[in-house]
Amino acid sequence: MNNYMIFGLILVCAALLCYSLIPSAGLKYLWKQKSRKRIKEGRADRRLYLTFDDGPSREYTGELLCLLKQYRIKASFFVVAEFARENPDLIEWMKEEGHLVGIHSVEHKNALFRGRRFIREDIRESVGTLETMGCRARYYRPPWGHLNLWTLFFIRAMDLKLILWDVMAQDWSARETANSIKEKILRRVFPGAVLCLHDGRGTAGAPGRTLEALREAIPLLLEQGYVFERMDAYEY
Ligand SMILES: [Zn+2]
Repeated sequence: MNNYMIFGLILVCAALLCYSLIPSAGLKYLWKQKSRKRIKEGRADRRLYLTFDDGPSREYTGELLCLLKQYRIKASFFVVAEFARENPDLIEWMKEEGHLVGIHSVEHKNALFRGRRFIREDIRESVGTLETMGCRARYYRPPWGHLNLWTLFFIRAMDLKLILWDVMAQDWSARETANSIKEKILRRVFPGAVLCLHDGRGTAGAPGRTLEALREAIPLLLEQGYVFERMDAYEY
């Protein structure tokens, strides 16, 4: 490899870093810093924000909606447009129960190194799909939290708010059990935290384990004085 090729390779890597890797990692870092700052300044109360990605799924979302209803909890769902189109009744059910419905891409494709047209159409189609179901989407969570400079441009142009998270329990993984997910949730939550869980996709029936974990974690969190809110009540 000659010097020009090495220089070219360095340029490509630097461009990719600036285009997507730095914005993705940087925004996650800033989100967490903001949460810490809120606690430090005593502005955090005992609110938690339950958010669910990757649904709706025929198998799990209905059961989750029943569980949330049991405790009168309002949550936020970041739905994949193709699953929403397959399950319009579940979107209707979310609305009826007073949950917030946001977008999480059309087909859950990684947008990290995608270009302008892909990002624009992905967000536009996601918003449009929900619109046909009577939902005005105002909140967006990118799959895997991966985004690029065009994502930032289009969510601003389409008047969407970017939602990341504070707490993950790796509930999509086949390695996790219902108990380990519950333990992670209980150990990792803090006042004002946004929890990211999943009611669709995942490995080997993962959302079933998430549901089982929540059945035990929710009453314990309520006992600890936490209340649950939708993302539109979140203080930025
Ligand atoms: Zn996802």
